[in-house]
Amino acid sequence: MKLGAHVSIAGGIDKAVDRAKDLETNAFQIFAKNPRGWKGKTLKEEEVELFKTKVKDEMFEAVVVHVNYLINLATPKDELYQKSKDALKDDIKRADCLNADYLVLHPGNHTGSGIEAGINRINQALKEVIAEANPKVKLLLENVAGAGTEIGANIEELFKMRVGIQSGKVGVCLDTCHAFAAGYDLSEKEGLIKLLNEIDETFGIDNLEVIHTNDSKGELGNNTDRHYHIGQGKIGVDGFKRLVNHSNLHDKVFIIETPIDENGNDEFNLKQIENLVE
Ligand SMILES: [Zn+2]
Ligand SMILES: [Zn+2]
Repeated sequence: MKLGAHVSIAGGIDKAVDRAKDLETNAFQIFAKNPRGWKGKTLKEEEVELFKTKVKDEMFEAVVVHVNYLINLATPKDELYQKSKDALKDDIKRADCLNADYLVLHPGNHTGSGIEAGINRINQALKEVIAEANPKVKLLLENVAGAGTEIGANIEELFKMRVGIQSGKVGVCLDTCHAFAAGYDLSEKEGLIKLLNEIDETFGIDNLEVIHTNDSKGELGNNTDRHYHIGQGKIGVDGFKRLVNHSNLHDKVFIIETPIDENGNDEFNLKQIENLVE
């Protein structure tokens, strides 16, 4: 099983690999720069080399980069749109220079222009950015909880963003907490089947690459993004047992983005998942 956590890059990007190694995982996710600022520090060549050497030496099976949070490709505002496209190009460059396998992207918020307009903006931006940046890394659209004017809470919406783009360039990152918040009942067998069928009928199950494995503190369908410890939230132990043992998901990369608090940490949540694997 490919399993890991989101780890910090504090102190140098290669330090992330040490943290993933300490967790005894074979995959991990990072931000390639400060996720809440437009300008990131340039990656130093020594850091990048060290990063790649460590990834190779420790035989990690998957490296995932998550894009900056400020990016909004669905915005009707031209200035923010341009800034977002530039920031995505920068993240692609970083991911490619780190030899990352996947770059996860939150689609964005239409902020009042409407879902269709927002989807068209994203689709156009992806086409442009992919043509200009020619990424080696595979971009993954992440499903969202659907708060406010967020687009991409359902798979159909995500799929429309990829129209006219080669399937090998843009796939899916499934966040289980977001899916639950958006109304896919992953605590029940039928909910998981429905969700996986929707992915298979649109993107194709092979284009589902990464699963952000998070339980949900919030209720089913309430559109709130509140990640929780595996098995202790509303999706629950049985929900995750079905997920991690599903025959179509054996080759996927499972990444936890769970809280660190008095009820658990990364070690705890990774163990929770490992204990569910049959
Ligand atoms: Zn996520
Ligand atoms: Zn989330």
